[in-house]
Amino acid sequence: MQVDTTNDALRHPTLYKASGDLAISAVDGDVTHLYRVHALILAEHSPVFAGMLTLPAAADASVQTYDGAPVVHLPDNAKEVKTLLEVLYTPVHPIFKKERTFARDVYGLMSIATKYQIDSICAAVSTRLKEQWPFTKVEFIRTREDSHRSWVGPIHGVGRRIPEPASAIRLATDFNIPEVLPAAYYDLATHEIISLYSSQVKSMAPQWDLLLPEELLRYYQGKHQLTRQFVRCVNMFSSYHDDECETVFDDFDYDAGEYSDSSACRQALEKARTSWNDQLHPIETGYISLMRADVMHALVGVYDDRRKHKLCRPCEVDLGARCKSAIEALWNDLPAIFSLKGLPFYALTPRGQH
Ligand SMILES: [Zn+2]
Repeated sequence: MQVDTTNDALRHPTLYKASGDLAISAVDGDVTHLYRVHALILAEHSPVFAGMLTLPAAADASVQTYDGAPVVHLPDNAKEVKTLLEVLYTPVHPIFKKERTFARDVYGLMSIATKYQIDSICAAVSTRLKEQWPFTKVEFIRTREDSHRSWVGPIHGVGRRIPEPASAIRLATDFNIPEVLPAAYYDLATHEIISLYSSQVKSMAPQWDLLLPEELLRYYQGKHQLTRQFVRCVNMFSSYHDDECETVFDDFDYDAGEYSDSSACRQALEKARTSWNDQLHPIETGYISLMRADVMHALVGVYDDRRKHKLCRPCEVDLGARCKSAIEALWNDLPAIFSLKGLPFYALTPRGQH
């Protein structure tokens, strides 16, 4: 039977293809949108469509037709249908080039692709998200440092390339991409909810409203733990042993009336420890560094700056090694810090050893 309910329908300018053999209609608000595509393309990518399109011939009187082609009415929002069809016809679709807003913008596409079991699109979304939130330690540190530079550095606009963490958590949680969660929660924890209210950083504020209550709880608990772990930075300096130090004094300290057991290295590290300790007393120094609680950045900073203390070679090597093991420990602790192992879908995935 010929359909005429589509009199007011809008034919899509590029997705209503003259050579198509299948009409698809979907509604957005009050408007019906029409697309005309190739049944073979849909069937090729989606077993659900393939089943739907085991088509009765268009000549069959029971089949609705439009403009000479059979019509399928989809219950999905027309915007999502449009993006889905665009991606099927445009392998390198611009949505995959989005940076800061990728997870948010792709959510509808991921929903409809999951519903129609279009595995190629689901895999592409998952791959892109994992590129944005790397799950090897080295990549994690690199992106953390990039992110930090975007806050403090002179390069205007870098921030737009840093992906937004709350929408990443939403996408990863709803569509089972657990690998990205440690990095995304960590990034979230370096933000303050107060950043909602500051116009200066508003554009960089996470989309808190996307998070469920239990996810906000995970954020608070994780942030609290990370703040406590700033102590790890101080431990870099206070857990020092000078067994191999080449600068141990063997001088008589006339003031103390005894042989000094100190060393130039110990004194240099004591100075550094005092300066870190000051940062742990926020009232005196302003508490921004603590509120942002980017412990990984702090540890990487201690590692990068280890030569500035002018230590002897064995002590410098020792400090570097202790930094590295603290970084390793923090990386390994992230799933526990954010209680991710309690998530029903969270499984320990093999992570990079680098
Ligand atoms: Zn030394």
